[in-house]
Amino acid sequence: MQQKSQESWLEGPAMRQTKLFMKSRSNRFTADLLNQYRQTVRMIVGLLTGHCRLNKHMRKERGLAKDDLCRYCLEEEESAAHVLCHCDSLAGLRFRIFGKAYPQPVSLITDGALARLKTFI
Ligand SMILES: [Zn+2]
Repeated sequence: MQQKSQESWLEGPAMRQTKLFMKSRSNRFTADLLNQYRQTVRMIVGLLTGHCRLNKHMRKERGLAKDDLCRYCLEEEESAAHVLCHCDSLAGLRFRIFGKAYPQPVSLITDGALARLKTFI
């Protein structure tokens, strides 16, 4: 069943945003996540799926933001990948939390990732 689930994950066209951060299912990350408070789970899942209060989502999907620019740098679209990996204004914060100012998206979900993501949010 886990192999089928992995194949579905890899072959399915959906979950484009999440696949930027996770190249495969992670039982460890899932178990860690399910031990968190509901609000924390919502925020982490929202960040990894792009379905959260970032301006890109709030404008394109919800129509609730006047633009999709990053609130920190005002230069690029405020997506999860931008905030977690590319925004120059958040480089120092990312360096303190993740050990890299400009991490690759797929490198964020490793052992201990949940604690670092909780600090970031
Ligand atoms: Zn930015």
